[in-house]
Parts: sequence; structure tokens; C-alpha cells
Amino acid sequence: MRETFLPFSQSTIEDDEIAEMVDTLKSGCLTTGPKVGRLENEFRRYVGARHAVAVSSCTAGLHVALAAAGIGPGDEVILPSFAFCSRAHVVVHLGANPVLADIGPDLNIDPDDIRRRITPRTRAIMAVHHSGQPCDMDEIAAIAESHHLFVIEDAAHALGTRYGRRTIGSLSLATAFSFHPTKTITTGEGGMVTTDDTDLADRMRRMGLHGISQDAWNRYGAEGSWFYEVIFAGYQYNMTDVQASMALHQLAKAERFLEARERLARLYREALALVPEVKRPVENFWGRHAWHLYTIQLDLEHLAIERSRFIEELRAQNIGASVHFIPIHLQPYYQNRFGYSRGDYPATEAVYDAIVSLPLFPAMAPDDVEDVVDAIRGIVARWRK
Ligand SMILES: *Cc1c(COP(=O)(O)O)cnc(C)c1O
Repeated sequence: MRETFLPFSQSTIEDDEIAEMVDTLKSGCLTTGPKVGRLENEFRRYVGARHAVAVSSCTAGLHVALAAAGIGPGDEVILPSFAFCSRAHVVVHLGANPVLADIGPDLNIDPDDIRRRITPRTRAIMAVHHSGQPCDMDEIAAIAESHHLFVIEDAAHALGTRYGRRTIGSLSLATAFSFHPTKTITTGEGGMVTTDDTDLADRMRRMGLHGISQDAWNRYGAEGSWFYEVIFAGYQYNMTDVQASMALHQLAKAERFLEARERLARLYREALALVPEVKRPVENFWGRHAWHLYTIQLDLEHLAIERSRFIEELRAQNIGASVHFIPIHLQPYYQNRFGYSRGDYPATEAVYDAIVSLPLFPAMAPDDVEDVVDAIRGIVARWRK
């Protein structure tokens, strides 16, 4: 057994991030300033979008994207139940109704189920790229086009993901990314929302800063003015220069981090091929997988152990693991408010009962993967039916 605990996730913060943050602290610009502007520029270039707006989280990015697209009371937004709860919360915050859909074998929203759930009130589809694997974006775009719907992407897991040759962030009306510490690059908390639509970018930017008429960083600078006008009741979702200074260096390392993740995923794929009680992630080969997560499924027909006990046994062997995601339709709030219940989404539920996200982060060594797979082999041998 391992002597030290292997966490499920760990950020890589190096001296250049730290030096840049110290520089920011000494600069006197602690809120939104020139470094946020630089980060937005570099980010939009990285994903190939015309505009990038820095925000305080991926959740905030999704919220301003939906708000700026005009989603409001009575509207319906289709999204997978197999997503982080805040993706439905932002729909609720706008007075709209989240309409949950089931998933396919790649853990992404099932386009056929999207079609079944479209009503005259449907306004948007939220595509979630689980683990960093792209959804079938051509199919989703075709559905959206024929029903005049917006497509918004939750790319919290999908920085660097490609669909065919196109990088996620350049495909749909708006795409939101997360810089939460578990993600490919981090600012502690933070996010970015990209779009090619100049008008939408403008509205998202204002929406994220109280709905006022000018940029925050112009307000406090030499050319800044005390005067502003309020255009709508916006939110406070701006990113600070302290966060951006970290992200500038993280973004420059994104390709290095992605390659490390891919190498580790390949090691898991090879080693777990010899453990038939564990199903490896289904890969759809539609472009490039960002390998934010390596999510296995337990073959519960051939194992007498439940998933939560499996995670406890991994922990007892000094290995961290997690579950992505607890389906939204199983959460009490969504059941009470919208009438969802267990049984509504059979594919999502079967997956939820069996999934375990294994440790995966750039600083992991091949030996760490071996430790995880050894531990899994031991548990499987004890609990095989
Ligand atoms: C990505 C992620 C988050 C963070 O997303 P934000 O909206 O940026 O906060 C939180 N929880 C889970 C499980 C996630 O995968």
C-alpha cells in the first residue's frame, strides 16, 4: 500500500505564477485591470474565438451567457441531468425552466433525447462536455438550427478539447470554462466565457459587472471617470488581476498539462484493460479529449461492492477518488420544484451508480497510476461475484 495519500486532483502552481501574483499585489491594481485584459486576449486566441470575457466561475459564465441571450421567465433550457447542479441553478435564477435530458454511452447529452424534449417554449440547449470529451456538436447544432435554439456549452472540463479540428470555445453562441482548482488550469476560483458575437460579448461583460455602461478597469485608471449608467440589473462576476496573474501563466502551460493528462489516461487505459470488472471510459474519437477526468464504471453485475464502499476502500489504501456527477434530477430541490424523480433518466442513473473518477493531474507519476490500478485489482479480487 502507498505511504502517502494520492489526492483525486492537485493543481500545479510554479514560481512564475507566484512571482506574477506578487507583482500584481505590488502594482496596486487588485481588482479587474490590465492583466484581466491580457488574459482575455490570450484566452480567445487559444480557443480561436473573437471574444473572451473573464468571470468569477464557469457558473457565472453560463449565467451571463443565458441572460445576455435573453433567456427569461417561461423559457425552457435543455441540459443533461448528468451535470454539476449550478448548471440548472442559473436557468432557475433567470426564471426559466431547466428541462433535463439523458446521456449516451460517452456520458454526454443524448441528441435523440434532446429532440424528444423540445417544446414550443424551448429556447436553448446547454451541452456539457463530460471529462473533457466533446459532445456531438454537429448533431446538436443541427437540432438547434432546425428549432431556432441557442447552443451554450459548459466547457468546465474541456479547455483544449477539440471537436474535429475545431477547438471548443469557437463553435457555439457562447462557451463557458472553469478555473476551479480541479480543472486543467486554475485561478483558485474563476472562469471565462467566449463568443464570436460582439454584441453578446458586450452584454455579457456588462451583465457581469452590475449592468453598468463602462468597463471597471477604465473606471479607476487615469482616463477613468466616476460617471456610469446602469443599463440592466446585472451581477458582480468580474475576475480580479490577482486571479488573472495566476491564469496567464497557467494558460501558457495548458498544452503541457494536457499532454501529461493524456499520457496518464493512456496508462490507465492499458492497465485497466486487464481488469474486466471495471469499464473504461467510452471514447468517441471526435477530436481531442482533454482528460479532465478518468471516470471508470464498476461492472455491478460481477461485483458485490457498491460504489461508495469502493471509494472508501480506495481511501483506506491512501487513494482519493470522486464522483462526477450526482444527477441533478436526484437532488431534493429539483425533485420538489420540478417533479423529477428516480426512474426518469435510466442511462444517467445506471452510470451514476457505477462511476468513480480516479486520480488524474499533471504532476502524477506513472507509478501513481500503477498504485491506483493495483488497489483496484485488490478490491475487485475481494468482491468478485
Ligand atoms: C468544475 C466543477 C466545479 C466548478 O465549476 P465553476 O462553475 O467554475 O465553479 C464545481 N464542482 C464540480 C464537481 C466541477 O466539476
